[in-house]
Amino acid sequence: MQLLDGKKLAAEIKAEIKAEVEELLRQGRRAPALAVIMVGNNPASATYVRNKIRSCEQVGFRSVDRHLPEDITQEQLLGVVDELNRDPEIDGFIVQLPLPEHLDEQLIIEHIRPEKDVDGFHPMNIGRTLLGLPAFNPATPRGIVDMLQRYGIETSGKHVVIVGRSNIVGKPLAAMLVQKAEGANATVTVCHSRTKNLSEITLQADILVAAIGRPRFITADMVKQGAVVVDVGINSVPDSSRKSGYRLVGDVDFEAVSEKASWISPVPGGVGQMTVVSLLENTLLAYKKQIYK
Ligand code: NAP
Repeated sequence: MQLLDGKKLAAEIKAEIKAEVEELLRQGRRAPALAVIMVGNNPASATYVRNKIRSCEQVGFRSVDRHLPEDITQEQLLGVVDELNRDPEIDGFIVQLPLPEHLDEQLIIEHIRPEKDVDGFHPMNIGRTLLGLPAFNPATPRGIVDMLQRYGIETSGKHVVIVGRSNIVGKPLAAMLVQKAEGANATVTVCHSRTKNLSEITLQADILVAAIGRPRFITADMVKQGAVVVDVGINSVPDSSRKSGYRLVGDVDFEAVSEKASWISPVPGGVGQMTVVSLLENTLLAYKKQIYK
């Protein structure tokens, strides 16, 4: 088994981005800028936002942290989105999800100008991703595709089975891997909670992607010998040996599945690291106006 080491890969890509930013600054240009809107105090969201801001600092981006109160109204939040839409010094911004229940997530996402939607969740970017047009691809699927490419894992003609059909992972990943394009050309099957005989399908996977949100759901008997296994899940499970009282595990039973997989991504240190890097790459694209000219 070989490790799909997201941490190592992310460090390499960040170094590439940092070098590019340094060159921009040498030419007298301003640094790319990313703003992050977070509403309320969800602890998991706060950790993700901290990581994103820290990653910006690591590569020399300017970051703007817009932390808003839990009881903000929809109208006020749309006002902040408008403000960032108009700000010429902000290249891209994201709204950290999930939002509190009184806010309409889809409406907020659709209010972001597609040119600044570096999370790639706006229907314009999702639609362009499906059509295989230049777009801000959603960060997690983009990170997975990059990870496979950079590790030289062939997708052409391979059967990719994705467990999970969310709008942010499963569906856009399927759209990206099915393209008639380099780094894609896969035969893709998407499974979900209504799929019958799930393990019969997962056993056919040359590349198995788990994006379910259930700790260690994918067990060794669901995996073909020699398969490539990509674990997207981030689940917190109780662990009394840790000071925090918990630890993070993926959707794959890592130890047992490692015995069968040819390649496997760990949690933490796998897809999560790649997701943040994809956000930086999308921000750099937005800065360079390479998608919406
Ligand atoms: P989600 O929106 O909750 O979607 C979960 C998917 O899994 C759904 O399509 C669901 O089916 C399917 N599912 C649930 N139980 C199942 C079962 N028993 N058998 C087959 N399919 C089942 O989750 P998500 O946002 O895609 O996230 C998935 C996981 O990835 C979570 O752990 C999340 O924290 C993690 N994540 C990680 C990153 C990262 O950067 N690494 C980014 C995003 C998410 P239905 O559609 O039928 O309900």
